[in-house]
Amino acid sequence: MLDNDGPAIDWDSMIFSYQKTDRMYIANCEAGEGWSPGVMQDFQNLSISPAAGVLNYGQGLFEGLKAQRTEDGSIVLFRPERNAKRMQSGARRLGIPVVPEEMFLNAVRQTVLENTRWIPPMGKGALYIRPLLMGSGAILGVAPAPEYKFLVYVSPVGPYFKGGLKPISLKVSDKFHRAAPGGSGGVKAIGNYAPGMVPSKDAKAQGFAEIIYLDAVHHRYVEEVGAANFFCVNDGVISTPELTGTILPGVTRASVIEIAKDMGYDVREEKVDVDYVLNADECFCAGTAAVISSIGSIQHGDRVANFGDGEVGPITRILYDELTGIQQRKIPDERGWTVSVE
Ligand SMILES: *Cc1c(COP(=O)(O)O)cnc(C)c1O
Repeated sequence: MLDNDGPAIDWDSMIFSYQKTDRMYIANCEAGEGWSPGVMQDFQNLSISPAAGVLNYGQGLFEGLKAQRTEDGSIVLFRPERNAKRMQSGARRLGIPVVPEEMFLNAVRQTVLENTRWIPPMGKGALYIRPLLMGSGAILGVAPAPEYKFLVYVSPVGPYFKGGLKPISLKVSDKFHRAAPGGSGGVKAIGNYAPGMVPSKDAKAQGFAEIIYLDAVHHRYVEEVGAANFFCVNDGVISTPELTGTILPGVTRASVIEIAKDMGYDVREEKVDVDYVLNADECFCAGTAAVISSIGSIQHGDRVANFGDGEVGPITRILYDELTGIQQRKIPDERGWTVSVE
C-alpha cells in the first residue's frame, strides 16, 4: 500500500520493531539550570561525548506510550500524564533534572503530530512513543552528569508477542532476578533492561515467549513478565504483585486494576506466590507494548501449568475488551483517560 505521503507501509505485516520515522523532539539542560526550550527536528543521530554519563554509567531513563487512531480518525494518547510523572520519579532516583509535566506532554504531542503519516489505521497497530532522558555531559567519576538531553522519537508497531491474542508460554527464571529491594526496579532506568536480554533470549530459543521473574529475596513471589506486569485469576479473584519498589508501576497495570474493581471484581494487590499462580484459572500480563496478553502455560522447574486449554480466559477477555475499547474510544471513556492530539 502506498500512502500518498510517500512511504510504502504494509500495515498488516507489522511486528513490534523499530522503524525510523520523520521527526523527533530534543531539549537540553545544564545541571543547576532549567531546561532550554525543546525543538522539533528531522530524525537524526546524536552527537555525544564518549565520556557521557549515560554511556559510561547508564544514567538514563525511558518511557513508552502509544498514540492510536480511533474510528472517527482522531488520534489519542492513553493517560500520558502518568508517563510524565513516572519519568519524574525515575529522574529523582537517578539524580537527573526533572522534566516538567507540561514539557513532557507537549514534546509527546508535537512528535506525534509531526509523524502522523506513521500512525497505523485503527486496529492495525499503534504509534509507539519513546521519550528518553539521559546524562549527556562528560563525566569521569561516578556522579551525575553536568548536562542532560530529553528527547522523543516514535515508531509504528504491531503486536508485541508473535501470534497476537494467542496465549503465550512462559518460563519462570530459576537463575536470574530483575530487581532487588533498594535498587532501581521501580523506575524505567535503562540499566534495568540489558541484564534481562540473555535470560529472555535463552527462553525464546527454548520456545517460550518470555520469562517470569520471582522476587530476589525469597525466590518465591512472582514479580514481572519481562517488561510487563503480571496478573492471575483464581475463583474469580484477580491478584497482581503489590508495588514494593522492585516492580515497575505500569500504567496498564493501574488501569486494569481500576477497570476490574469498577466491574465488581475482587482485585488484590498482594504477594503472589508462584505455587498459587500455577494453580490459577487464568493468567495474563499487561503493559503498553503487551497490552493484555493471555498466558497459556507456565513452566517452573519440572512443573508445567496449563491455563484455559489454549483459549483466552473469560475474565482476561472481558478486561482486554474493556481496556482496548476505552483506549480506542470504542466504548465511552468515563474516566477521561484518553487525550486527543490536535
Ligand atoms: C514499562 C514496563 C511495564 C509496563 O508499564 P506500562 O506503563 O503499562 O507500559 C512493566 N514492567 C516493566 C519492567 C516495564 O519496563
